[in-house]
Amino acid sequence: MTSSQVELPAEVKPDAATLMASLHLMPTPVPNPEIKYTKLFINNEWEDSESGKVFPTYNPATAEKICDVQEADKADVERAVKAARVAFALGSPWRRMDASERGRLLGKLADLVERDSAYLATLESLNSGKPFLTALFVDMQGTIKTLRYFAGWADKIHGITIPVDGEFFSMTRNEPIGVCGQIIPWNFPLMMMAWKLGPALSCGNTIVLKPAEQTPLTALYIAALIKEAGFPAGVVNILPGYGPTAGAAIASHHAIDKVAFTGSTEVGKLIQEAAGKSNLKRVTLELGGKSPNIIFADADLDLAVEQAHQGVFFNSGQCCTAGSRIFVQDSIYEEFVRRSVERATKRIMGSPFDPTTEQGPQISEEQQQRIMELVQSGVREGAKLECGGKVCPGKGYYVEPTVFSNVTDNMRIAKEEIFGPVQQILRFSTVEEVIARANDTEYGLAAAVFTTDINKAMTVSTALQAGTVWINCYNALSCQSPFGGFKMSGNGRELGEIGLREYSEVKTITMKMMGKNS
Ligand code: NAP
Ligand code: MG
Repeated sequence: MTSSQVELPAEVKPDAATLMASLHLMPTPVPNPEIKYTKLFINNEWEDSESGKVFPTYNPATAEKICDVQEADKADVERAVKAARVAFALGSPWRRMDASERGRLLGKLADLVERDSAYLATLESLNSGKPFLTALFVDMQGTIKTLRYFAGWADKIHGITIPVDGEFFSMTRNEPIGVCGQIIPWNFPLMMMAWKLGPALSCGNTIVLKPAEQTPLTALYIAALIKEAGFPAGVVNILPGYGPTAGAAIASHHAIDKVAFTGSTEVGKLIQEAAGKSNLKRVTLELGGKSPNIIFADADLDLAVEQAHQGVFFNSGQCCTAGSRIFVQDSIYEEFVRRSVERATKRIMGSPFDPTTEQGPQISEEQQQRIMELVQSGVREGAKLECGGKVCPGKGYYVEPTVFSNVTDNMRIAKEEIFGPVQQILRFSTVEEVIARANDTEYGLAAAVFTTDINKAMTVSTALQAGTVWINCYNALSCQSPFGGFKMSGNGRELGEIGLREYSEVKTITMKMMGKNS
């Protein structure tokens, strides 16, 4: 396979095709990228941790250490919150800033990210293991577009005037909430950062953000770009560190007004509990999923097989939206399994910097082992292992693309989030049956349906309990459309205009009219 044939997820193909056409202009990985920032970013300065502790960060493709990073803990959260509070104080440069200037700064940040996208994609690939081309086309593009989208909103977040008793004048202001704690995962480090920073800054909040322990490097580089863009000191503070220490200190801090979290449901519950026990800070959660992907017999089979494949294997299966319960109608079941296995066995694993690589490593040995444990449970519980099911020998945390058929609803692999390259294929007969089974989960993040019958598409998409339902596509996300979970997949929504609501308080101001105005 030549580099011009690299398989990319469907939703990026138009952009990719244009770029591929001018291959000689395409950015390439930066060889031996220099790691420029490893300290805590507080008040626009680079600081050591109070404890003096550092922690290692790794390249999951080789299991080798990249460098040490300063490790934030409670005392550092304290310093960062202080800086963020001062930056948010009434009369501060940030609070007095024209909203359009806030938008300009966010737009400038997007431009700087675009300027340095080859370097950032290299760093993202090195630290997270995702293929460089995916980092460049999916993650970087998603990051830049999200920052630009929210830059555009900054001066359009309007209140309203309200008709009330004529002796009064009543209006609303959408005000920033205050200091926002943001805790993000390792599967899309840059994109998750943009999803959190964009709306928070657009609304005028200040931020204390903790990247995941596994992937601090691009977050720290973005910190440098935030300073370069000209954001006032203290508006954004970035603290690499661990969840149970720095993360917990954020979730339970009395001077943090909101916490936004993306990660496991288990930790989501801890965050909500810590918020409740401290100051009832506002909480938004984007948690896991076990998303159903329903394939009807009348579907375009080529499309459905490829999209179902990408829907679960993309990013080494490390997606909250992974379509990991694939319900296939009886009459096409065997054929769908045959083609899915054929596709999975062709999936190219390799170095993230090889342009033909479709699948890099898992993020860590811990995740690799977790996946293997679930795969073994699938075999024990009677699912048919069609292909894969093993770790790959050699360096790095690779797992073979794995397909299970004859999966039934009560198996662990059909109920638990695997977060790995493991496809479960289940069988169904009728529309009513598949709706009930698809909804029989405590999650509700995403779902998909493949059919050429518009009635079936609408019946099923209306009935599914999920924050996003795709019809004849998968993972077609855009920063303009809201994203979030029903049930235990989360609270609140990110992206889109609705995402802004999660970062502002509505204040009603009512004034007694002194003259005769009505
Ligand atoms: P996780 O622990 O939920 O990590 C997400 C973020 O929360 C990280 O920044 C983490 O810090 C932090 N955190 C952990 N414990 C915390 C606490 N007590 N208080 C505050 N923050 C805390 O996820 P994981 O351990 O990396 O992965 C475990 C599973 O979670 C995966 O197998 C997958 O099922 C799910 N997951 C889901 C998503 C998603 O996009 N929804 C993303 C990643 C993982 P550390 O870096 O120290 O862990
Ligand atoms: Mg963790």
